[in-house]
Amino acid sequence: MQLIKDFINLFFPEVCCICDKALTLNENLICFRCRSELPRTNFTSLYDNELKSRLHGKININFGTAIFYFYKSGISQTLMHKFKYQNRPEIGRMAGQWLGSEMQEKGLVERIDVIIPVPLHKRKERKRGYNQSLIFAKGISEVTQVPVMDKAIKRIEYGESQTKKTREQRWKVAQKAFSVSNPENVKGKKILLVDDVITTGATLEGCGLQLLNSGAAELNIATMAVAK
Ligand SMILES: [Zn+2]
Repeated sequence: MQLIKDFINLFFPEVCCICDKALTLNENLICFRCRSELPRTNFTSLYDNELKSRLHGKININFGTAIFYFYKSGISQTLMHKFKYQNRPEIGRMAGQWLGSEMQEKGLVERIDVIIPVPLHKRKERKRGYNQSLIFAKGISEVTQVPVMDKAIKRIEYGESQTKKTREQRWKVAQKAFSVSNPENVKGKKILLVDDVITTGATLEGCGLQLLNSGAAELNIATMAVAK
């Protein structure tokens, strides 16, 4: 099997999903150079960090972490774009594995019972073929062995367009846009809520509030990226 893989690789080398250069046999998805240039947050080692402060006063979380910063036109943007819009779920899975290892190193795994992904709009999931938050959650789970509870949160679909709303109205909608499918499943649980990226934090706040209102014992948050 490896021989066949090597043979195929000779003619169709796998390329780095950021810079498109051919990967060596020791590299996986991203070349070493791009991997070292990703703007890492180091939040898993920092209890008081920017992700936590972005949600400060809005929702009570225990720890919050993310892998890298997301700058428009930076290499993390190329990575996220391929993950979300070019059918490359393996990117999110790898990112989840990175984060799972970090959490293991810092002893954070013992502090969670279950991983819950932010749900995607049904329409978007059909178009994309997968929910990127679920893929990321599964990557974390593969390393940590903490189970993923998919569909724990439901998105309440609104027909009206978001674009005509003010920022404040959108925020209110985000808070009311989610509901917990079965509160019994989350009651008393220490939860790791995951999403691909945090911008204003409205989505995570909306989901997190519902989980806490349903009796979750503790809320922690992990994202792939923090938008700058
Ligand atoms: Zn590269």
